[in-house]
Amino acid sequence: MTHPILIIGTGLAGYQLAREFRKIEATSPLMLITADEGRFYSKPLLSTALTSGKTSETLTTATAESMATQLNATILTRCNVTRIDPAQKTVWIGEKSYPYSKLVLACGADVIKAPLEGEGVSDVLSINHLYHYAMFQDLIKNKKHITILGAGLIGCEFANDLSNAGYEVHVIAPAKSPLELLIPESIGKLLQKALADHGVHWHLGCVASHVNKVENGYRLTLSNGEYLETEFVLSAIGLVPHIALAKTAMIKTQRGVIVNRYLETSAQDIYALGDCAEVEGHVLPYITPLLNSARALAKTLAGEHTAAEYPAMPVVVKTPIHPLVICPPPKDTVGTWKIEAVENDVRALFHDNTNQLRGFVLTNNAVKDRMNLTKLLPPLF
Ligand SMILES: Cc1cc2nc3c(=O)[nH]c(=O)nc-3n(C[C@H](O)[C@H](O)[C@H](O)COP(=O)(O)OP(=O)(O)OC[C@H]3O[C@@H](n4cnc5c(N)ncnc54)[C@H](O)[C@@H]3O)c2cc1C
Repeated sequence: MTHPILIIGTGLAGYQLAREFRKIEATSPLMLITADEGRFYSKPLLSTALTSGKTSETLTTATAESMATQLNATILTRCNVTRIDPAQKTVWIGEKSYPYSKLVLACGADVIKAPLEGEGVSDVLSINHLYHYAMFQDLIKNKKHITILGAGLIGCEFANDLSNAGYEVHVIAPAKSPLELLIPESIGKLLQKALADHGVHWHLGCVASHVNKVENGYRLTLSNGEYLETEFVLSAIGLVPHIALAKTAMIKTQRGVIVNRYLETSAQDIYALGDCAEVEGHVLPYITPLLNSARALAKTLAGEHTAAEYPAMPVVVKTPIHPLVICPPPKDTVGTWKIEAVENDVRALFHDNTNQLRGFVLTNNAVKDRMNLTKLLPPLF
């Protein structure tokens, strides 16, 4: 009997890989294992779902059962893989083992927990899965005042979405401006102003240290000596690739599970893609990189050894109050930003020391330049 190709994870990386594989190989055994319910949904829609009136139910486009039929695959849901044994080519769910012919880690990222104290800490929620979103929608019902920790992509998108839905939103972050790690400060300030004009309150340059329960919610203590009373705290301070499972198999990890452009880990017949992977040194927790990886890896799994290609991949920030497309320069690239503004439309270009364009940020009407600029950027590999 041939052991199945086994994919751990049914997020977009796992399911997309399975779909691409089935386009090439209709019948060979395929198994997916997931710790969650295995519903198919588009995760980026979570941070615009209030505006679009979606719930966790209506965001679901297929159940695990219907995905199993579509993919001609076995899908084990609510099963947490606890260990991988590369020598025996098995994965373990508690005391039960499952053999594989090839194994793919598509196990996503872990949310970073804010270093908070106080008896309200366990009520602070982060959203990185559909079931988190279901909890969130339930918990914010009948509430009006929400505080977000973090002013990165996800924090800003939820700030826009929640304020669209009529909530009073406060954002607390140590940064001087939103999206500080991705875009120049002056452009971050424009986003900050646009969201402030929309009703978002900013508490920048400080962090929350304590979350204590009070009669109608929580009292946050800020590092600048201020206090903020709120009804709900959403933490969006970031994600880190999930590497704990790879470590059980002594697979090499750094920021993520280390893979080459063939998505091969340091262990034979074990691959990784999506948010858990560090591909040729790049940790890019976005959709386009995982789609490119899935296409290449599907071919490799079907017998045609294929490298993934990573062109420059811009990301649309879902803050419709201030449209923004970003393509940050690759990590550690030395160079300078040149920022041109025509009224509210900003075009910021990042050139390296050889004057090669390496990144850009576009706002408002300037987002129309996205395709042309992307063509001018060199591929990552
Ligand atoms: C709110 C939000 C908005 C976003 N918006 C955008 C956007 O606009 N554009 C963009 O490009 N990207 C966006 N992203 C990022 C993008 O959604 C992710 O990069 C992508 O969905 C990651 O998919 P994944 O399959 O790698 O991980 P996940 O979706 O996290 O899936 C991981 C899977 O692994 C399973 N798993 C983990 N550990 C185990 C285990 N031990 N045993 C069994 N199963 C396990 C989980 O149950 C899950 O099924 C957004 C992310 C968030 C949170």
